[in-house]
Amino acid sequence: MIRTTHDFLNERKSQGSRVGMINLGCARNLVDSQAILGRLKKNGHRLVEVKDCDVAIVNTCSFVEEARRESVDCILDLIDLKKSGKLKKIIVAGCLAQRFGTELAQEFKDVDAFVGTPAFTKDQIPAQVYLTPRHFAYVKICESCFNQCSFCAIPKIKGKFSSRSLETVVAEVKALDEKGVKEINIIGQDITAYGMDLYRKKSLAALLKEIAAATKNIEWIRLLYAFPAHMDDELIEVMASVPKICPYIDLPLQHINDRILTAMNRGITKQATIDLLTKIRRQIPQASLRTTFIVGFPGETDAEFDELVSFVRQMRIERVGVFVYSREEGTPAYFYPNQVPERIKKQRLDRLMSEQKLIAQKVQEGFLGRRLRVLIEEKQRNSDGLYLGRTQYDAPEVDGLVYVHSQKSLTIGDFTMVEVTDAFEYDLTGRVVETK
Ligand code: SF4
Repeated sequence: MIRTTHDFLNERKSQGSRVGMINLGCARNLVDSQAILGRLKKNGHRLVEVKDCDVAIVNTCSFVEEARRESVDCILDLIDLKKSGKLKKIIVAGCLAQRFGTELAQEFKDVDAFVGTPAFTKDQIPAQVYLTPRHFAYVKICESCFNQCSFCAIPKIKGKFSSRSLETVVAEVKALDEKGVKEINIIGQDITAYGMDLYRKKSLAALLKEIAAATKNIEWIRLLYAFPAHMDDELIEVMASVPKICPYIDLPLQHINDRILTAMNRGITKQATIDLLTKIRRQIPQASLRTTFIVGFPGETDAEFDELVSFVRQMRIERVGVFVYSREEGTPAYFYPNQVPERIKKQRLDRLMSEQKLIAQKVQEGFLGRRLRVLIEEKQRNSDGLYLGRTQYDAPEVDGLVYVHSQKSLTIGDFTMVEVTDAFEYDLTGRVVETK
């Protein structure tokens, strides 16, 4: 039976553990880590930096090969620390432990426990212990995924899709609002499926309206991880009409060729995707979109890949991430014939990225001379009046930054008007023109 981190540490509570957490993977993992930390703190453990801890927890990711490698490298570093006497215990939690716990336990004898992803049911997420800065927060509204994309192991790893109740989410957001948080990022594997289990209908639009009405300090509400086939008119309408909702959406498309979309089980066609993007552009003209594509999906021909490249050129999506297809055990696509050789996958990734690079540079140049509202995030160390911030078009930790020159001192977490003076592929430079 897979034990939770909480169970494991409770057995050792009498030893007065000083616990350090390393979070790997996506923002969704970060939210799980926050919840684990919240539970640990509530149960009397001391949360400290990893360099000062007795017990290190690493919350791992196993989404793709690269993530698994990063997780294993981290485990090896912790084992070195333990061998040198600087660490007493190592706990490996999260997706990797859930999926490969038995095999890993045989390989890494110095790890004290492999524990599965804690079963955070919809109303049990505890008071947050923030890993994020005070001015922004992630709010997870649902767990696992409603969809069955043929390449993805997440629904199998995480179990049944479950939405948190609307009241619970709004209460959490209100608490963040009272603490002075300025930006919330709504996350979940597929936030557009929110409510389909609990309320028997898509309820994200209703939730966003409630959140917007219930908050004073929160000025940016950002939507991360929407499923294209679930994006409906009501949601686009709410995004267009509620000023607090950032004109930004992370909408992973994965591919555009109809045969591949069907093989991926994405529930959408090329034409429906184009219609959706056109509708978003029409109703939210300033929208900045982020998407991801998978290249080298089994059977992807040169012509199908070229179709994807043409689509990227035509649609000019502002932020694009490209991944090579990773063959995941336990997924239908694992058994698909005509797996694409790694060399070809890599070539396709490089080609698509270089196409996107040109588009990204042009998008950024479009900001030159414009005045943008920037959320100041940190002061550049050893600099005279240089700060780092983000616009409403940039999500924390994945998108670009604005390097802000200011003659007067700026406060972290405040909004500032900045005139853009230079544009790079991902980042912008500007100077303060007015402080709110
Ligand atoms: S939408 Fe598809 S790719 Fe994303 S988590 Fe769900 S099943 Fe996986």
